[in-house]
Amino acid sequence: MSSESESAIVSWENHHFYKNCLDVMRIAGQHIGMDPNVYQRLSKPRRVLYVSIPVRMDDGSIKVFDGFRVHHNTTLGPAKGGIRYHPEVNLAETSALSMLMTLKNSLVKLPLGGAKGGIRCDPNKMSRREKQSLTRRYTSEVFMLIGPDKDIPAPDIGTDAQTMAWVMDTYSSHLGYAVPGVVTGKPIEIGGSLGRVDATGRGVVYTVVEAAKRLNMEIGESTTVAVQGFGNVGYYSAKIISGLGCKVVAVSDVSGGVYNSRGLDINAARTWLNEHRSFDGFPGGDKITNNELLELKVDVLIPAALSEQITKENADRVKCRILAEGANGPTTIEANEILNDKGIFTIPDILANSGGVIVSYFEWVQGMQSFFWSEKDVNNKLWEIISHAFSRVYDFHQAKKIDMRLSAFAVSIEHLSKAMLARGFFP
Ligand code: GLU
Repeated sequence: MSSESESAIVSWENHHFYKNCLDVMRIAGQHIGMDPNVYQRLSKPRRVLYVSIPVRMDDGSIKVFDGFRVHHNTTLGPAKGGIRYHPEVNLAETSALSMLMTLKNSLVKLPLGGAKGGIRCDPNKMSRREKQSLTRRYTSEVFMLIGPDKDIPAPDIGTDAQTMAWVMDTYSSHLGYAVPGVVTGKPIEIGGSLGRVDATGRGVVYTVVEAAKRLNMEIGESTTVAVQGFGNVGYYSAKIISGLGCKVVAVSDVSGGVYNSRGLDINAARTWLNEHRSFDGFPGGDKITNNELLELKVDVLIPAALSEQITKENADRVKCRILAEGANGPTTIEANEILNDKGIFTIPDILANSGGVIVSYFEWVQGMQSFFWSEKDVNNKLWEIISHAFSRVYDFHQAKKIDMRLSAFAVSIEHLSKAMLARGFFP
């Protein structure tokens, strides 16, 4: 996450995170002989929409927020990606995240392009009514871009099923009939999919299980895990991996975390955080900072918070065996080199956290067919897609002797390039 931005309109030319994503794409591309025209095309988003959003706050004043919706690429199908509510949202970061969505969707072979949206706001400091107004007005402003065949938003940091319900209702009200297919990650009652809420965390755990098999590592009582971030992705990753018998020894949120060498009670930690809004005073463990958590000697480290958390400053002190990136872009390209040298096995973001958009795709498909699947079917199909994607990436990594991140990007770009070249460049 960049703190270099004072304003929301940050150009991507000099934005560290954007350039980082481009660099990974360029270097990965070299391993598959990426067509330079394809690289040129993918180095900029297809279209961006800036919107200003006036909201009447509870004190009666009007506050105007900055928001975006970015379509990075739509070669494979409708644009797809979350909407983020966070104080540091800016144009360059949203654009970089949309690029990662293009590559994520292509990697797991979904018939979807890549998009991202965001509003620069602090949802933790807003009332439910203020957030509802913000969401409804944002939806009206991006109305021309979104739709079940055009662009399908979903939750991301700071947004959830309720946010998606407001988007769906606003969009549907404009058209005069219910359009559940305009968003995914909706409440079940209005067409959401079973298994969507925990899908990203579940996918992270599935990829850890696949990695452990390849590394001849046991996943069970002797496995220690640390999770940075306790939002949707962090919480479900921790809960699901502890369900496999692993010991989750540390979790955190923005304000810091808790550590217990005997393992934490994940549900108790969640209840405490909901009630107290921080882990301060949590009786089940000792206080730990976010930096300390990243440097713990554990078998599995899951960064599930913001981007650029593992950098060249701290990578040398990271001591896990498997790094499973629940967040988007948590590791910089410089840090990636250091982790490789240390022999840490990285499951990169576009693979590790793809479970969310995979089940979003299932939700979209179920909605179009008006035929809904059981949770077991959803989880089985998720497992099928993500474990196949893992194998393709792992095999590439073994064959070409390049790291898992570059392998994932290369495998993704190879699929996408073929589609782009088949369609050609209009006109
Ligand atoms: N926001 C999630 C991501 O970054 C999910 C996107 C989606 O389901 O469309 O992958």
